[in-house]
Amino acid sequence: MTVQQELFEILACPVCRGALEMAPDRESVLCRACSLRYLMNGGSLDMRPGHAVPRENQEEGR
Ligand SMILES: [Zn+2]
Repeated sequence: MTVQQELFEILACPVCRGALEMAPDRESVLCRACSLRYLMNGGSLDMRPGHAVPRENQEEGR
């Protein structure tokens, strides 16, 4: 287990307190609960709610 994986076990989404998980591109972190994406900037995670972006790879329900 990497240090980052251990970190994610204690990190929670600042918006909804949901669990976070590493995105497949390993450059962002996803919140499953509210579908926000937090970007990694040079290895540090930007968790300011205003900097979170909606998850792109999710199909819009119509
Ligand atoms: Zn969330």
